[in-house]
Order: sequence, then C-alpha cells, then structure tokens
Amino acid sequence: MSHEKSITITPKAVLTSAGRWFALVLIFAVGLTTPVLLAFNWNHKLFFIPLELATKFLIVFPAVRANCLWFGPVVTRFCTREKAVWLTFDDGPYPEDTLQLLALLKIHNAHATFFVIGRQVQRYPELARAILRDGHTLANHTQTHPVLFFWSFFKTRLTREIDQCNKALREATGEQPRWFRAPAGMANMFLHFLMCDRKIKLIGWSARGFDGLFQNTEAMANRICNSIQPGAIILLHEGRRDREGRPINLILTEMILTRLTAKGYVFIVPDESEMLPV
Ligand SMILES: [Zn+2]
Repeated sequence: MSHEKSITITPKAVLTSAGRWFALVLIFAVGLTTPVLLAFNWNHKLFFIPLELATKFLIVFPAVRANCLWFGPVVTRFCTREKAVWLTFDDGPYPEDTLQLLALLKIHNAHATFFVIGRQVQRYPELARAILRDGHTLANHTQTHPVLFFWSFFKTRLTREIDQCNKALREATGEQPRWFRAPAGMANMFLHFLMCDRKIKLIGWSARGFDGLFQNTEAMANRICNSIQPGAIILLHEGRRDREGRPINLILTEMILTRLTAKGYVFIVPDESEMLPV
C-alpha cells in the first residue's frame, strides 16, 4: 500500500540556542524574583503577588499542560494525503492485553507503535519481541512511569528514566528506540533539552478517549472517531479494566479499528520526515 507524501519536511535536530537561553533566563528570573524583591523590602503586595505567581506559572504551566510546545517540539500529527492515522499504545507490555491487541491489529491489517515502560519490558521481554515480530514499533515511555511527578524532575532523574528504558529495550530486542512519550504528555524544559541532545523525538497525540479516567467505551470511541482527521495520532493504553473487570483497551481498540476502517482509514506508523510539528 502506498502512502503519498504531501510535503517534505526536514526535522530540526536541536532546540535553538535562543530557546535554551530564554529557558535558562526564565529559570534564573523565577528563582531570584522573590529573594531579590524581599531583600529590597519591596512590599507592594499589589505587584509582588501577581509577579510571583506569573513567574511560577511560566515554568509550571508548560510542564503540566500535555503536548505544550513552549519549550520545544512535540509531534502531535503527521503529514499525509491518505486517510491514515497512527495508533499508539502506552503503558505496556501487559500480559493480559498485548497479545490480544496484536491479534486485533493483525485482523485489521493495522500497524501501531507501543510506548512501553522499561520495567514491564524487563518482566515480559517476550511480549516486546512479539510486538516487533508483528511489524509494529517500540518506543520509550520511561523506566518506572512516575506519572504524578515526572513533570517536576530535573535532568539526572529524567536521564535515568529514559536511559534505563532504552537499555531494557536494547536488551530485550536489540533495538534502540528513537521516540519518547512523557507520562501524561507532561514535559518540562529539561526534558526538551534531553530529547534534543539525544536526537529523540517527543511524541504526543491529537486524539484520545481518556481511557485512563472513564469507563464508557462507547463515549470514548465516539470522542476519538469524531475528532479524527488524516494524520491524527491516537492515544490508547494497555492494562485498563472497568468495574466489572472487562478490558477497556481491547474493547475500545476494536471499536476504533472497525469504525475507522469503515470510514476508509488505514493505520500506519509514519516516517519521521512526516511528523509535525518539527
Ligand atoms: Zn503512560
């Protein structure tokens, strides 16, 4: 099957030095605002409190807002003239889901990327190999998936999470992933620096059903399918169960595969030159 490329884009390898300077000045300003103003007995509360809040906001907001582009590129769609989408599965491999997901994808002739957790890969290396064997791709989703505090980590902890997952994947499959997805899509400026230094692409999404929060698969499938356009990146997960213990992800994935296939969509893993924004 051919997928005609609409335009050719050359991905930028690194964040601009101006961007880094801006980020470092911002950190410096945020760190020094309060002590400097206090040292000068600058007690105009009318200005002091908003200034303090604004400087903190500039650091925290882009880190906790999923797929925020303030500090660097995040891939949220890809270029295509075909009715094609990119299915992505986070948080696996998961022994009760992965093989069934692979079987579903095979039935629909679909290709996908699995953003896996390093610790899970170490437990179930045969599942990681099965994903590759079926023609899908593997990518990094941290070693331990510290979803609550990942956005607040400094470089050392971020490096450990990324490198250990890469090592787990290398040991299980012999391959080195080139793509990374942050837990809950939350990335601070240090993560962007790290991605650029290591030439790893940060991958986000353009459609999700909040399958980690809700249980109504019909509503989730509607939410995803109604927002789909060619070049969409769909975020799904492994390992979710509803109150009755049913596998939400398997049910939701089958609904999406069936509905989008009926609309004429194909499920591909795009080439890096097609990923947007760059
Ligand atoms: Zn995750």
